[in-house]
Amino acid sequence: MADFDYDLFVIGAGSGGVRAARMSALRGARVAIAEEYRVGGTCVIRGCVPKKFLVYAAAYGKAFKEAEGYGWTVGEARHDWSTLCENLHAEVDRLSGIYWKNLSNSGVEIYQDRAELVDKHTIKLVKENRTITAKYILIAVGGKPAQLGIEGEELAISSNEVFHLKDRPAHVVIQGGGYIACEFAQVFAGLGSKVCQIYRGDTVLRGFDDDVRAHVHEELKRSGVRVMTHANITRISKLDDGRRRVETDTGEDIEADVVIQAVGRIAHTDGLGLEAAGVETGRNGAVAVDPYSKTNIDNIYAVGDVTDRINLTPVAIREGAAFASTVFGDEPMAFDHADVASAVFTQPPVGTVGLTEHEARQKFGKVDIYKATFKPMKNSLSGSESRMLVKLVVRQDDQRVVGVHMAGDDSPEIIQAVGIAVKAGLTKPQFDATCAVHPTVAEELVTLKEKWTPPEIS
Ligand code: NDP
Repeated sequence: MADFDYDLFVIGAGSGGVRAARMSALRGARVAIAEEYRVGGTCVIRGCVPKKFLVYAAAYGKAFKEAEGYGWTVGEARHDWSTLCENLHAEVDRLSGIYWKNLSNSGVEIYQDRAELVDKHTIKLVKENRTITAKYILIAVGGKPAQLGIEGEELAISSNEVFHLKDRPAHVVIQGGGYIACEFAQVFAGLGSKVCQIYRGDTVLRGFDDDVRAHVHEELKRSGVRVMTHANITRISKLDDGRRRVETDTGEDIEADVVIQAVGRIAHTDGLGLEAAGVETGRNGAVAVDPYSKTNIDNIYAVGDVTDRINLTPVAIREGAAFASTVFGDEPMAFDHADVASAVFTQPPVGTVGLTEHEARQKFGKVDIYKATFKPMKNSLSGSESRMLVKLVVRQDDQRVVGVHMAGDDSPEIIQAVGIAVKAGLTKPQFDATCAVHPTVAEELVTLKEKWTPPEIS
């Protein structure tokens, strides 16, 4: 491999790129990585990590109120946005530093620069204005917020900018009904903002199990979010006082301090030089790859959100590790994208793994459904009306549990463990043979006895 400057050049130091770079270097490869913004990528810098801090912050407001039922007298609760942001950014800085240190300790050379492909073995460092060659190139540049071309869209922000707002907006409009829109709607509602979520469909979280969608939709409303359905933003304009006017196709205009657009994310490949290197793209402009994350060009691979497979941090990490094993290890490894558990950090949050009821019916025909919605024990004294949903989707012919869907406190923590059972292909009788932990909400997973039957349609 001596003819090239490096054995591997990674473009993008996010979750997938960093893991691939480190694992490849630890296997003896000469590795460099370029990052145009900050080491850590979307997850650490402006995604999962800082978002979760906002979610924790919002949850305290609810907890203060609910504590009264347990005998606490809580004084007037006030929230200081700048303290939260200061602490949040300090932690993000610390984590980004750890990523940097781990890369260097593994022997990876870091370029704080934008990298673009010149041909299939050559990368241009834009700031340094020089080229570097590598035997293998890994594209791990992630995604960026999608835009819709609405008039005045530049007056809206994306989730990226939320963490840099100087003050907490008193009135927020959020467009979208996906992960980001639902999570931020409840963050701001929980912190005391008036929130209007504008969604083009009828029930949020398309793609999730229908019971989860209905549950989250109701809980959004219960937490004070106004969810405008069958609605689209047609224009955004600036008012004299600097606020925004949002015009919708329902005929209603809404005024807000901040408009957040969360209408999906697309591959961050503008100007990356994919054409110059001959790399093909597929759906939504994502880099097309085979199960080993290889593009149509033999020495160029891609992992993470830029490939638009399952756009989640732990998936990117696994794809990055599998790449290192395939290219620099002893065995080719393709990450198995089936049964990846995930969470939506609404309040209460969602945990889900495997097939939705709809998907299972389409795939297997006959399925058994077990489900319960109930008031969690904690809420009998807290006064909260929030409910818990637990649902099992079971393939009828062999009783294998092919999907588990939960909404309620601690669901993300619970689903991580249940994900093992689903991935392992365990059956409903094996769930039933597992003794409950009492009193917990999770015990419903092993005590659901009655099969749910759809109501007769008259
Ligand atoms: P999602 O794909 O989850 O949701 C996009 C939303 O935008 C949908 O409600 C969609 O509506 C709506 N939309 C799309 N196009 C239009 C349009 N032309 N006009 C109006 N509305 C539109 O994207 P997000 O931006 O919320 O999140 C991006 C990704 O980030 C997620 O897919 C997920 O992979 C990741 N993520 C994961 C998190 C987690 O793990 N907890 C948290 C945050 C993000 P419709 O439903 O009708 O299609």
